[in-house]
Amino acid sequence: MKLVLLGPPGAGKGTQSVVLSKQYKIPHISTGDILREAVKAGLPLGIKAKSFMDKGELVPDEVVTGIVVERLKKPDVQKGYILDGFPRTLKQAEDLDKALAGMSSGIDMAVYFETSVKTAIERLCGRRVCKSCGFNYHVKNIPPKKEGVCDKCGGVLFQRPDDNEKTVMNRLKVYEDQTKPLIAYYTKKGLLKKVSGDLGVNELFKVLSNTFSDAKIA
Ligand code: ADP
Ligand code: ZN
Repeated sequence: MKLVLLGPPGAGKGTQSVVLSKQYKIPHISTGDILREAVKAGLPLGIKAKSFMDKGELVPDEVVTGIVVERLKKPDVQKGYILDGFPRTLKQAEDLDKALAGMSSGIDMAVYFETSVKTAIERLCGRRVCKSCGFNYHVKNIPPKKEGVCDKCGGVLFQRPDDNEKTVMNRLKVYEDQTKPLIAYYTKKGLLKKVSGDLGVNELFKVLSNTFSDAKIA
């Protein structure tokens, strides 16, 4: 099952991806996570990407597409994968299709998590992330038992540098301008599946299993 997850920042793509990836035993490929890892490790890629990320701007297409295309050459993606945060521009989507045409097969479905701007802002500004295991919390919606401490591993919780209000507003604008056209792109291909951004993960499983044959999920 080859999935693309679409929707504004704060739609819950990352959270849903983690669960879907476990359930279907297919890798979760998040360009945001890959870029943040590169920043943390001080790699040249990270140094290049950081200034864009801090402002809520997109990292240049050729950089991000190159990372994804390389990742999709690894053997663990044979059964499928979940692309979270990629593609984010028409150019990225077109280049992904070109690259996939030379591999086994294309995307099976683009799941669009419809989310209001108000919800997205609330989720992003209240988000806290565990420094050790990466689990996501929310100060109101998913608070940890002890403030600032991860329930799962005891790690320290922090706020992503791009989750401040000013950068959040820019990320949402960038989404409107550059990523939203992908909804039309995947609709035209007959691949778009619109779901509510408030869907629980069990409801999402239902949508997916109603759409896919067992062969594609297995
Ligand atoms: P969110 O979806 O919550 O904004 P991500 O973790 O997906 O967060 O992305 C964080 C940042 O990483 C983006 O604001 C952008 O700077 C960069 N980024 C991630 N994916 C892409 C992409 N496909 N193209 C360009 N930049 C990207
Ligand atoms: Zn943790």
